[in-house]
Amino acid sequence: MMRGWRAIAVAMLLVLAWALAAGSAVAQAAAPGPSVERLQGKPFYINLNCRRPPPPDAQVVRIDPPAEGWPAWSQSVLVLETPPGLVTIERGRQARCGLSFDTRSSDTRFRSGVGTTLAPAPGSREPIIVTAPSTGGFGWPMTVRYGDPAPLQREDTLRFAIRVGGVAILVAMLLSSLLIAANARDRVAALFALSTASFSLWAALRSGLAAWPRPWLPSPELAQLAIEVLPAVVAGGTWYVAVAYTRCDRVLPAIHRTRHWGFLLGALLTAWILLPLPGSTVFDVWRPASLAIFAAAGAIGAMTWARGQAGGKALLVAVTPVLVVHAMLMVQMLAAWIPESLLLSQAWYTVAMTIAMSLRMGALRRQRDRLQVLAERDPLTNLPNRRAMAATLPRRIDEAKAQGRSIAVVFVDIDRFKSINDSLGHAVGDEVLTEVARRLSSMLRGGDLASRHGGEEFVLMLAGASAVKAMGLGERLRRAIADSPVDTRHGPLAVTASFGVGVLQPDDPGGTAGAAALLARADAAMYRAKQAGRNRVAGPDPA
Ligand code: GH3
Ligand code: MG
Ligand code: MG
Repeated sequence: MMRGWRAIAVAMLLVLAWALAAGSAVAQAAAPGPSVERLQGKPFYINLNCRRPPPPDAQVVRIDPPAEGWPAWSQSVLVLETPPGLVTIERGRQARCGLSFDTRSSDTRFRSGVGTTLAPAPGSREPIIVTAPSTGGFGWPMTVRYGDPAPLQREDTLRFAIRVGGVAILVAMLLSSLLIAANARDRVAALFALSTASFSLWAALRSGLAAWPRPWLPSPELAQLAIEVLPAVVAGGTWYVAVAYTRCDRVLPAIHRTRHWGFLLGALLTAWILLPLPGSTVFDVWRPASLAIFAAAGAIGAMTWARGQAGGKALLVAVTPVLVVHAMLMVQMLAAWIPESLLLSQAWYTVAMTIAMSLRMGALRRQRDRLQVLAERDPLTNLPNRRAMAATLPRRIDEAKAQGRSIAVVFVDIDRFKSINDSLGHAVGDEVLTEVARRLSSMLRGGDLASRHGGEEFVLMLAGASAVKAMGLGERLRRAIADSPVDTRHGPLAVTASFGVGVLQPDDPGGTAGAAALLARADAAMYRAKQAGRNRVAGPDPA
């Protein structure tokens, strides 16, 4: 029935999709010609005072014209990698300015930094002066690109594309890490998702996307605050994941105790950034701190891997590109591509760790499944044990009640088993138990369940069986045991068992109480079978 409805729903969706496609084709044919539309909207510019005197420690770059003076066409200037604040580009009386990370304030032709296009008089020798907030010395120096507008704008578009691509990768990884965390309900996965969320937002803001295509945070101050505060969460999460993921509690317990220190360090660094101290911009603090955390994570990866933890290898694979990019930047390689190379290397870290997290979740699940199998199986007979029956029976009783079907339980107890143990030894007793278990379970159907209840007692659950059916099966099982002797190390041994059948009554309760009532009934019947002389089946009716 369900299946039929699903097929109808799918068919209706297909018809709808076809109707939409056909409709749009007809609409297009009816209105041929180009689509022309006027977009309106106020510009997002905010008024800035570009002539404000720069702070005394500002970074200043002077760009001199070529020997023959400025050419007869416009010149573009793009300023990248400055700490948050006012960036000014001026030439003579012409001055343009913008706030880094706030594209509302700058020329919309440039998206990756503060840029503008100036038109110096041909042959003029006036320099272009760029002023930007200071990096205290730990941050990378600012990058200035200038020259003919077309190549500069193409390069700017490439930077923007790389940044959007990097952020898209991070957001995709954020979604999968959220899924992993929700699925696994595991603290390491949750903290990884948290730090991925923080880093995705940070990278988006830091890539100039806070005001693109229009501002999506209530205020530029909030965007700047987020840029300054989010690194603390990223630092804390990255360190926690590095320590917990590599299971270094087993091999490096002293380091495992430091797993919360990343958050502490992050909080201290944030306080330092927010206090108006010199040399405390987010880049001054965050770059060395992130390098230190990734380097330490790499060291943990190497050490735990050397001590045989597979997680160490995954962590090392994830952080190595980040460390390589930092090393290249230190020797002035990739100098024009600092934010892009850092973003892509951290995107790699996030991708590699997301894959590692999902593998870890798979391993945890398999381990859980193995433990459950161990906990619910009897090692001697390999039958489900009493715990497994106690978990299954109430559910199956509820199903049977809901469907108005019958369900029966058969209690089986081997006769005079103690004397087998006493005369022939426990090993022979074990052989008898294993063989009886095999004969019982081999005669059951798919939906039935045989369990070892304890000692030499077994409980069988017969789904859908009426009293008559259960009695019939009980009799067949009794003969299967009694009619052919069990082969043991001491030769063939005649074994019998007593059976008690209990059937669910319409006024029985459901769930665990119903299971207890049913088991008690079958146990009482089995006791009657013993009383009546053993090797027989006693039914639900005492009469
Ligand atoms: P009855 O016909 O009245 O059921 O007599 P019985 O001897 O079968 O019953 P009793 O409960 O007195 O003895 C059960 C014996 O089963 C006692 C115990 O030593 C033995 N037993 C319980 N578990 C195991 C096991 O895993 N292996 C072996 N070999 N013996 C077991
Ligand atoms: Mg017994
Ligand atoms: Mg017994």
